[in-house]
Amino acid sequence: MNESLQIRTFKRAGHIEVICGSMFSGKTEELIRRIRRAQIAKQRVKVFKPRIDDRYSEFEIVSHSEQTFPSEVVIDASEIYEKSFEAEVIGIDEGQFFENNLVEVCQNLADSGKRVIVAGLDQDYKALPFDPMPQLLSIAEYITKTLAVCVICGAPANRTQRISTNSDQILVGAGNHYEARCRLHHIVNTDGNLPRGTDIKIGKEKENAE
Ligand code: ADP
Ligand code: MG
Repeated sequence: MNESLQIRTFKRAGHIEVICGSMFSGKTEELIRRIRRAQIAKQRVKVFKPRIDDRYSEFEIVSHSEQTFPSEVVIDASEIYEKSFEAEVIGIDEGQFFENNLVEVCQNLADSGKRVIVAGLDQDYKALPFDPMPQLLSIAEYITKTLAVCVICGAPANRTQRISTNSDQILVGAGNHYEARCRLHHIVNTDGNLPRGTDIKIGKEKENAE
């Protein structure tokens, strides 16, 4: 066989897939779906999540619809590289909670022939880009944006409304702290927060009141 053809046959290109969107948009469900399909195809899979996300389980990623898949907790993205030598498909949930070195780690994993799937919030509760997801979006081969349902009007929602009083960029929680909202019904007040029950007019209501 021709040597260049042999190289083509044996060397496999990896790639990066990003699944991003607001909270409740189905990112974790989609990540689990892809990882399960890879397992059905008898590929070796490995799933990671950051230490900070200990909301439901230390040993699984968990969707809001209670789907689960076994995962390993890591503190720093560099651990993902070290623990993925055997894996062909690597899933990473809550990508936005990692430091920027996640980008280099994903790049190196994909360069070494692996399929890397990263799920994470593309925007924080102020609708600002949530590092390092924008950087991952720019280097990924495949991007999926998932949309939730706006809890106010039922429209497709790509924003996350914080409903508790806290202005840190990272505040881990679910329905107790956050709601899915569309562009029209997402509000960032001066503190960046909208406490539940606060009498703040939203969207068209606000325009009419002014
Ligand atoms: P994400 O990882 O993006 O936060 P999950 O995959 O964990 O989302 O959960 C998605 C599931 O959340 C949906 O299938 C649905 O059962 C549930 N859910 C709860 N509230 C909403 C909402 N406002 N819009 C869409 N899905 C919601
Ligand atoms: Mg999730």
